[in-house]
Amino acid sequence: MNAPRVSFVSLGCPKALVDSEHIVTRLRAEGYEIAGKHDGADVVIVNTCGFLDSARDESLDAIGKALAENGKVIVTGCLGAEPDVIRERHPGVLAVTGPQAFESVMAAVHAAAAPAHDPKLDLIPSQGVKLTPRHYAYLKISEGCSNRCSFCIIPALRGDLVSRPLPEVLREAERLVKAGVRELLVISQDTSAYGLDTRYAEATWRGRTMRTRFLDLARELGGLGVWVRLHYVYPYPHVDDVLGLMAEGKLLPYLDVPFQHASPAVLRAMRRPANREKVLERIARWRQAVPELAIRSSFIVGFPGETEADFQLLLDWLAEAKVDRAGCFKYEPVKGARANDMGLPLVADEVKDSRWRRFMAHQQAISAARLKRHVGKHLPVIIDRADGHRATGRTQYDAPEIDGVVHLSSRLPLRGGEIVTARVESADAYDLSATVG
Ligand code: SF4
Repeated sequence: MNAPRVSFVSLGCPKALVDSEHIVTRLRAEGYEIAGKHDGADVVIVNTCGFLDSARDESLDAIGKALAENGKVIVTGCLGAEPDVIRERHPGVLAVTGPQAFESVMAAVHAAAAPAHDPKLDLIPSQGVKLTPRHYAYLKISEGCSNRCSFCIIPALRGDLVSRPLPEVLREAERLVKAGVRELLVISQDTSAYGLDTRYAEATWRGRTMRTRFLDLARELGGLGVWVRLHYVYPYPHVDDVLGLMAEGKLLPYLDVPFQHASPAVLRAMRRPANREKVLERIARWRQAVPELAIRSSFIVGFPGETEADFQLLLDWLAEAKVDRAGCFKYEPVKGARANDMGLPLVADEVKDSRWRRFMAHQQAISAARLKRHVGKHLPVIIDRADGHRATGRTQYDAPEIDGVVHLSSRLPLRGGEIVTARVESADAYDLSATVG
């Protein structure tokens, strides 16, 4: 009997990607085959993103394309929390489910195409099916978020913070490492808040008692012998504790801290967590503890009420903080976000555009200066893609997909997933070139 085939579209952030991996794992476990294209598949699942208006449009377009090419479409993910929006534009979809509604997605798949029970087809790798290359994997430690940033509707879509039990996270991490993963990317909406919802509950792991909190989790992951990279960390005081683990080489010297802005007035209007912390002093202390620390961040320009003085403050702050990598987004009003009703004056589109360009040029110069410090050094590089004697990889200071890369050449052939030592020959504003051996 032929296995039923499901075509899958995964949109949105790494957290949505992890949800997609769960669904694909379940599908494979039940004997479904994952199709390479919509045409000819028994059903299509579209995992949507509902964060920004542009992402919503992209999701609605992807649903339209799947309907045109296949006709049988199940929608899930963040935009799925707003079924009316989807059904108004695409009344023909079979089912609409919200984020992490795995059971409802599977029920909709079963209704569209009954599962094949063939034990040979049911074999799946023990670490589940990952949509990332085999050598790195995202490790999602919690769902939802208890902050209330005024521009964000994620808490409305995904609910308050719910931390996964510590042993469950560590078991998954161990399984991934056993299966060959060499880099774990820890993600959530607010990684530093891990365990807060459980009041840092006591947990037992391998006969030892610990707490469901960021430091204990980081320490255990740091003992697995693989690269561990922390994303979505806020500059709370207790984050200082994990810098010690970085100094010991247990965690990568890398922090992804979504600062979003530097002006106190804008941060207040954004209702950002940790906005009263003395962040520059904190960064200076982090760099004292771990001189090689790389900081990646994201920022929003043109938030309602942002003045030229606020924006200039942001540019000055970036130069002082020496942020290694920064993404910049022009503010877009999100339907349902509080920022729309705060009575703040909107920033004109042409001002937003010009601030975005100024930000990018300014940050490019900072990144280029930061990257130069690597030239002439021998650094470990993890290889993401190899083609004989040439490869693309990353140093410890860069995360996949969002940061820069290393272009490698080597006397000996290289393989994806291996970690090599390479001499950095040159740097541009984003990437490095290096030789192996
Ligand atoms: S921290 Fe703020 S921006 Fe991030 S998910 Fe929570 S509410 Fe949204």
